[in-house]
Amino acid sequence: MSFVVAIDGPAGTGKGTITKIISEKENLLNIDTGAMYRCVALQCLNNNISPKEEDKIKEVLENIDIKLEFIDGNKKVFLNGEDVSSKIRTPEVDNVVAIFSALKCVRDKMTPLQRKIGEGKDVIMEGRDIGTVVFPNADVKIYLDCSLEERARRRYNQNKEKGINESYEEVLASIIERHKLETEREIAPLVKAEDAIIVDTTNMTIDEVVNCIEKIIDKKRIK
Ligand code: C5P
Repeated sequence: MSFVVAIDGPAGTGKGTITKIISEKENLLNIDTGAMYRCVALQCLNNNISPKEEDKIKEVLENIDIKLEFIDGNKKVFLNGEDVSSKIRTPEVDNVVAIFSALKCVRDKMTPLQRKIGEGKDVIMEGRDIGTVVFPNADVKIYLDCSLEERARRRYNQNKEKGINESYEEVLASIIERHKLETEREIAPLVKAEDAIIVDTTNMTIDEVVNCIEKIIDKKRIK
């Protein structure tokens, strides 16, 4: 029997950090679907392919090999054998990933791949459409929310730590733009699943969010 926890929500809600902690505490396989879309966007950027060049994108998708691994407790992402863990998290990728991930050909490839990776296992999968499209029968569905300003503030601080020089206003503008693209797209838009539980993290610490979600998981999970 597999156990699936779906964590959906917009960028900057702390999904990555929270999912990682819970995956370790609850012994669940952590699958970051955003990293997979980021790999597609990076590969297209590297090859100067625009979102309009569908044939070229399809070619990229046919030849793409994405691996999500954990090395010494750190999440590592490999794109065609190369460690791209940092390269997929630059402002350049941030600015185009929502455009590429809205494309039907991209989602047609990624959604079955995500199901295949998670199938039959105990997983915590984070993204935008996990509880609505990828695993609509997930055992636990969480929708993480947070105000736009607080999301921008968190991303701004993360960038600063990584040495990325972007003003708060630029980060906020990018978050607003991405939010619009993700919630208004035709295929698999970011929307709360009917049966998902909303956790608003705006005024919560990471520990508080983790405890809250663990309680929800523990109620559903027979260990
Ligand atoms: O979660 P993260 O910000 O890394 O995701 C990067 C991008 O991938 C998002 O902005 C979104 O456009 C896309 N994505 C998606 N569906 C998912 C996960 C991510 O469209 N399940």
